[in-house]
Amino acid sequence: MVPTKRNAVVDQAVCVACGCCVKVCSLSAIQILHGLYANVDSARCVGCGKCVRECPASVIHLKEVAR
Ligand code: SF4
Ligand code: SF4
Repeated sequence: MVPTKRNAVVDQAVCVACGCCVKVCSLSAIQILHGLYANVDSARCVGCGKCVRECPASVIHLKEVAR
């Protein structure tokens, strides 16, 4: 079986680039790219879910990904 972990994933097509998720992530795993959308660095993300709860547009969710 492939080992997995939980990662935050942003629906970039509907992200409004407000930056709320960036501020709440204590591991600096999220950046706003090109001023347009948030992007999660999967190597840094530990799947804590803080950004998911913070996103006012509800466009981040946790997903099982390969380690
Ligand atoms: S799930 Fe946690 S570690 Fe991952 S990007 Fe969101 S706040 Fe950061
Ligand atoms: S909090 Fe949500 S809408 Fe705001 S930048 Fe992050 S993913 Fe995009």
